Amino acid sequence: MNVTIIGCGYVGLVTAACLADVGNDVCCYDVDQDKIGILESGGIPIHEPGLHEIVARNKAAGRLSFTTDAHRAMTHREAIFIAVGTPSGEDGSADLQYVLAAAHEIGRHIEGFTVVVDKSTVPVGTARRVRAAIAEQLAQRGANPMFSVVSNPEFLKEGAAIEDFTRPERIVVGCDDDVPGERARDTMKRLYSPYNRNRDRMLFMDVRSAEFTKYAANAMLATRISFMNELANLAERVGADIEAVRRGIGSDPRIGYHFLYAGCGYGGSCFPKDVRALMQTARDEGQTLRILDAVSEVNAAQKQVLVDKIVARFGEDLSDRTFGVWGLAFKPGTDDMREAPSRVLIAALLERGARVAAFDPVSMKEAQRALASDLRGRPEALARLSLVEDQMDVASKADALVIMTEWKAFKSPDFDSLKARLKQPIVFDGRNLYEPPAMEELGFEYHSIGRPGGG
Ligand code: NAD
Repeated sequence: MNVTIIGCGYVGLVTAACLADVGNDVCCYDVDQDKIGILESGGIPIHEPGLHEIVARNKAAGRLSFTTDAHRAMTHREAIFIAVGTPSGEDGSADLQYVLAAAHEIGRHIEGFTVVVDKSTVPVGTARRVRAAIAEQLAQRGANPMFSVVSNPEFLKEGAAIEDFTRPERIVVGCDDDVPGERARDTMKRLYSPYNRNRDRMLFMDVRSAEFTKYAANAMLATRISFMNELANLAERVGADIEAVRRGIGSDPRIGYHFLYAGCGYGGSCFPKDVRALMQTARDEGQTLRILDAVSEVNAAQKQVLVDKIVARFGEDLSDRTFGVWGLAFKPGTDDMREAPSRVLIAALLERGARVAAFDPVSMKEAQRALASDLRGRPEALARLSLVEDQMDVASKADALVIMTEWKAFKSPDFDSLKARLKQPIVFDGRNLYEPPAMEELGFEYHSIGRPGGG
């Protein structure tokens, strides 16, 4: 099948690479010339395990191409995926300017029947707006090809995106109930058939329900995290261990083990903005989603929990202190720094006069950009931040080590070496990587989330 993907980000590039890998002819279109330049010259603009190999293989086989030429990308295509960003607008709603710009572009170029696939996470009613934007452009050029807009939200996780795309738990597709909709449904079935072989994972529904499903899923996951974080804070007060509690409740199949880890808050490009967007959708309808209000509020507070522990230990004035930070990306397996809890922690430490030395296995470049933007206009604070290329060097002469992301390389470090480098053997662990008794035995003062010991 001839397919185009609009937007070469985390979702677009993975979708393109995986669809090309099963034999489709895939064209990737992006307005970012730098990104297309990197891709054309054999590079990958994002970190996603396994992606580089698939892109290289399919580019070499002539099944995957990259362009900034909209006409080339959008003519003679059976399906065109919209996979552009939908960041938060000022009021928290999803900013649809990129989606609608893509729709206009589609309307300017398509010639024959085209299935337009909304893969971006978009609020209920967006497919209708995409359809109108395409129709407006078609009318302007007096063209009349048939098209259908389907909703096909993406559920991949950064860091495991290839596996998620190629072995999906479900493929949600919202189609219209008309003739083009029926045709689109067939196209989507054919396109996804390589990933749908041993059992039927395709869930067809109406377009609005498909759009809603993505927000409902992310809101539920964010709720589980904030729920556990709030319980973790109480567990600390009453002397219980949230990790034991997690195992205790996770064993109930009605609850399950996933997404029950207490920590220093969720971040990333999806949960925070999708929760906000769903809340705004509700407000537009005159409803308040009280649970999600609390989920957001708890998460904002949780990003401060380690700061509070550090202040409780060292005092409000941190001007003669140095902190080593392990982990900058919002989660392991990605270089994505969007809404990462590390940004809140680092800004708060610098604000109090501390020096910070930080390390991340893959997101140093992204982190440099994100932190420089957070600290714009505060060159004096930025000067107290150093990004260090060696994991252990971060701890050198630091008053404490702070762990913000649960990268594998942090799970079983050389504790003796760590202890020797730190000025004082103190660890603040935002991801509960170690066992408190073991840390005590090793001679560390260990502060974690929702567990006894340390503080
Ligand atoms: P991203 O920011 O990594 O990439 C978006 C890309 O779209 C950029 O390369 C940008 O240059 C390009 N773009 C913007 N406007 C364009 C236009 N008019 N024409 C062509 N290209 C354009 O975004 P992402 O993280 O891949 O997310 C894309 C969508 O998928 C969002 O709606 C997001 O919520 C959703 N989503 C993301 C994830 C994830 O883990 N990142 C998971 C599921 C769903």
